[in-house]
Amino acid sequence: MSFVAMLIGGNWVEAASGSRFAVTAPETGALLAEVPRAGATDVHRSVEAARQGFMDWYRLTPAQREAALLRAAEIVAAEGEQRFLDTLIDESGSAIRKARMEIAYTVDLLRTAAGESRRLYGETFPNDDPQRISMVVREPLGVVAVVSPYNAPLSLLAKMCAFPLAAGNSIVIKPSEETPLTALAFGRLLLDAGMPPATVNIVTGYGGECGAELVNHPDVRCIALTGSTATGIQVGQSALTKMRRMQLELGGKSAMLVLEDADPVHAAKIAAQGIFTHAGQICMANSRIVVANRVYDEFVQALKAEAESLHLGDLRDERTTYGPLINARAAEKVLEHIREAVSAGARLLTGGEILKGLVIKPTVLLEVPRDCAAWREESFGPVVSVVPAADLDEAIALANDSDYGLSASVLTNNLQWGLHAARRIKSGAVHIGMHAFQSNALAPIGGVGLSGVGRSGGHYSTEEFTEIKWISAEVGSLPV
Ligand code: NAD
Repeated sequence: MSFVAMLIGGNWVEAASGSRFAVTAPETGALLAEVPRAGATDVHRSVEAARQGFMDWYRLTPAQREAALLRAAEIVAAEGEQRFLDTLIDESGSAIRKARMEIAYTVDLLRTAAGESRRLYGETFPNDDPQRISMVVREPLGVVAVVSPYNAPLSLLAKMCAFPLAAGNSIVIKPSEETPLTALAFGRLLLDAGMPPATVNIVTGYGGECGAELVNHPDVRCIALTGSTATGIQVGQSALTKMRRMQLELGGKSAMLVLEDADPVHAAKIAAQGIFTHAGQICMANSRIVVANRVYDEFVQALKAEAESLHLGDLRDERTTYGPLINARAAEKVLEHIREAVSAGARLLTGGEILKGLVIKPTVLLEVPRDCAAWREESFGPVVSVVPAADLDEAIALANDSDYGLSASVLTNNLQWGLHAARRIKSGAVHIGMHAFQSNALAPIGGVGLSGVGRSGGHYSTEEFTEIKWISAEVGSLPV
């Protein structure tokens, strides 16, 4: 079986212990490669390398940092499919259209972050003492630990790395144990783009050992974690004991509101895209849909038809909407949420079972009791709960009946109603006339409640990954 080494200090290396773990394809179960199983020694070496790499990177001019990120973007624009497409399909079970979407978005993210290199703005402010001047300068933090999830292993990783790098930080990446090969290919890309070798380091390993070791390392100045809320709480608690900066992008249970003026058939099409893309393994997937009584029956029938018409074929088939869940544990969790809801009285409109392997049929649940996991918890699968609402107030109350708040959507042709709902829904984002799964490299992505802390994207990332410092100087009397 082939072996892919990890990246420390510009060198492709084994784990110090020599241990490895296997990466498998969710679609076929085939073994794809082995990668190092990094432990404490490897984490220590990678952080030490990043500490040294930090100065090599930060002492470059903003224009040089911008140029390196732009070179990375241009390589992906020219060779993205060659470098990433097969790995994304095989390793993360991405359908080809989703894999292409990630590659295209990666170009956009790298270009957008490149521009941020020049925008580490500070400011000055007035001082009552005329002999003094005060300024605020913005500085990078140092070593940032980037801990990434499996569901969008290229574009999310690109976002999580490109913005801290643009701000002048060095990074140590701990990718999901499910998708290390995509991360290692991304590391190769950054080296090919001419980044100083120790600026970007990658340790492959398990969350509880390699990840925990990394986020607790004393020389890590900031933790950027995208993952489940359970992991975020664990990592966040220990980060707080060391007063470490952290940016946590966690789980979601996004609501879509379909208001009474919406076209129910069109709304069902949008809703299906918002929940079934990548088998619902999207943090912003609209897994709860609240529909005005007036259009409820038509919407439900149209959503059933949409769900049953999806093509769930080979991942390399352009018609395929989605493929397998990432592993058997993830599939079992989704099926358990469905079983629990049905035994508590929910109506299974369609789906609810395995189609083949780890592929679960698109599933629509009606009348889900609101204490069920299918309503309260992130299923991270192709399952959606639909409930009726008598009016806008009730719809908003149902949307807010969640501990999460990552993204939401309102389908209406009445912008005033849409904006009214948008202001009252507790969520990091609300999209009107669209589904809840939206991206934009400049947008502040992040959530409220259990969906996380902080924002990423554009200048919002720059704020997360820099520290501001007040400098004042006694300058004698200045002419006024
Ligand atoms: P996960 O929490 O299981 O793992 C995420 C990463 O954390 C992995 O690299 C894992 O190895 C690591 N990890 C696990 N335990 C750790 C520990 N104790 N210390 C340090 N690192 C540890 O999440 P996942 O299953 O890979 O990804 C799916 C989750 O990610 C979903 O909940 C989804 O909503 C969330 N997600 C959120 C966003 C967002 O923007 N908010 C985007 C994508 C995914």
